[in-house]
Amino acid sequence: MTTSSDAGKITTQRFKRTTVTLMTDDTTLPQTEDEWRQKLGDEAWRILRKEGTEPPFSSALNEEKREGKFVCAGCGNPVFESQAKFDSGSGWPSFFKPIDGALETRRDFKLVLPRTEYHCTRCGGHHGHVFTDGPEPTGKRYCNNGMALRFIPDDNGDDNA
Ligand SMILES: [Zn+2]
Repeated sequence: MTTSSDAGKITTQRFKRTTVTLMTDDTTLPQTEDEWRQKLGDEAWRILRKEGTEPPFSSALNEEKREGKFVCAGCGNPVFESQAKFDSGSGWPSFFKPIDGALETRRDFKLVLPRTEYHCTRCGGHHGHVFTDGPEPTGKRYCNNGMALRFIPDDNGDDNA
């Protein structure tokens, strides 16, 4: 009987998560702002964690017209369906309705006129502002930073599973 190899057994159980660009699990969310910044990169971090705003017409998601879901770039929480997207001409991805429970709003007094900021209910990441000049049926316009979103096309889901 020998126990000389026991010590090495535990460490082989560790495995690396491969979800680099998209996290879908609460337990993997960063705990500190430093960790968030590392995960998101400076630009997305400034938007999601510091309520920054990207330049208009800078996001490729403005042109995204496929069927699918827009998820939070911070935590993978699905926040908008592609059916709720519309072309507002504002230069930011725009939606008339979020997925139920995905977002919370708060008054934002950074400008002279108060605006309503909204953020992800799961990770708290800032996404954009909601205005009341949107199309029917809601009349709302969720003006979202593209860097705060990831698009998951419907077709791709099964192929890569
Ligand atoms: Zn989130």
